[in-house]
Amino acid sequence: MSGSKTANGIFISEGLIRFRALCRWLGENPATLQLAEVRGKRWSFLDGDLPPDADRFDLCRIRISDSFGLLIYGGARLPADTIRNIRAVALRLYAFERYHSQDQLAAALAGKDDAALFTSADTVREVFCGREVHLRAIIEFSNICRRDCMYCGIRRQHRGVTRYRMNPEEIYRAARAAAELGYRTVVLQSGDECGYPLGELCTLIRRIKKDFSCAVTLSSGEKTFSEYRQLRESGTDRYLLKFETSDRALYRMLKPDSSYAQRFRCIRWLKQLHYQTGSGLLTGVPGQTDRILARDVCCLRSLDLDMVGIGPFIPHPGTPLGKEDPGDSLRALRAVALTRILCPDTHLPATTALATRDAPAREQALRCGANVIMPDLTPARYRQHYQIYPGKPQKGAPLGVRKSLEALIRAAGRTVGKDRGESIRMRRERGNG
Ligand code: SAH
Repeated sequence: MSGSKTANGIFISEGLIRFRALCRWLGENPATLQLAEVRGKRWSFLDGDLPPDADRFDLCRIRISDSFGLLIYGGARLPADTIRNIRAVALRLYAFERYHSQDQLAAALAGKDDAALFTSADTVREVFCGREVHLRAIIEFSNICRRDCMYCGIRRQHRGVTRYRMNPEEIYRAARAAAELGYRTVVLQSGDECGYPLGELCTLIRRIKKDFSCAVTLSSGEKTFSEYRQLRESGTDRYLLKFETSDRALYRMLKPDSSYAQRFRCIRWLKQLHYQTGSGLLTGVPGQTDRILARDVCCLRSLDLDMVGIGPFIPHPGTPLGKEDPGDSLRALRAVALTRILCPDTHLPATTALATRDAPAREQALRCGANVIMPDLTPARYRQHYQIYPGKPQKGAPLGVRKSLEALIRAAGRTVGKDRGESIRMRRERGNG
């Protein structure tokens, strides 16, 4: 997100994005809003419509943050409750100013103000993403991997793994089963270099896209630009590639046979190819301080992503990090909440790792920024071998899993997304807000 800075160091474009989202969210509300930059006693106009019959006496001024104020024309005629409500929402929406510096972020990650952090994130989610929770079906189609990431249970050197590779027909049938259950996105995930000729994957994706009205997301590791391009041309809509950590030294420790620069290059390529691009990180890996995690969150923000996945590290006994402590779920939730505040229009799942670490954390995530759940629909005989970490939940039949997630979503006061849940960020790019 770029934009000019005010004297207070706050990006004006950030304030504008939030203002437009607020106006959209208020919808039918009769108030006519304007956004102003506030410096001392001076309010300077930034955005909004001035009604032709604007009457200065009818004007309400609300200070909503250090740098911004709202002007409500017709405000004096509105019920006091409505004004209070607009103010409360705007205050939380503009909380991003309080989570700007590395110090502020690190303090929030250490638990300085969980209540304020979580309610702000929840409001930002409400205004930018609405009540819908999108369900995405994951099919883990191969656990073959060329890499040796220290945390991952399907790393190449882990000999205790029964390796598998679903054939294209099996993947196709799993996608069909997901579509029949009402999923409008299938996420195909695998190890890196998972044992398919590229043409085979491209043909499969074309077939899935032709036969089912769903979006296809790939999460299959690092590839060449040309491979990403061919997969995109075959109809792949989205791609997930987490950077895991933005700290170079920690990256070298966690992914000793991978290149930090190449990972980020891949993410840039995905964006260049107009994938809806997702990235993300692990919280609580050994050696990750609050400062490092604060930088990770800033990195997510500067990448300007369509999707962000954040999950706590869960030690797998068959890996070099198997004896380390797991990541704390509350700290992962703080990272989710901060990401929602700083990246308001990204899709943010309540990740499986979070639910595995601490079952109630998934619902908590929905209350502090998350708007996506990605249940596992890998056929049972393969699922047991896709153990990137131990103890993954949802061992039930796909229909039961779907029903219980729908119940969980409704219990949280939310609705189940009926459409594909496309990128929200791209709406901003197209210039509609
Ligand atoms: N091979 C693909 C997809 C991999 S697995 C890739 O490299 O992008 C998907 C995600 O699982 C990883 O991005 C990582 O964040 C997460 N993961 C792996 N091992 C984990 C562990 N032990 N605990 C928590 N999350 C883990």
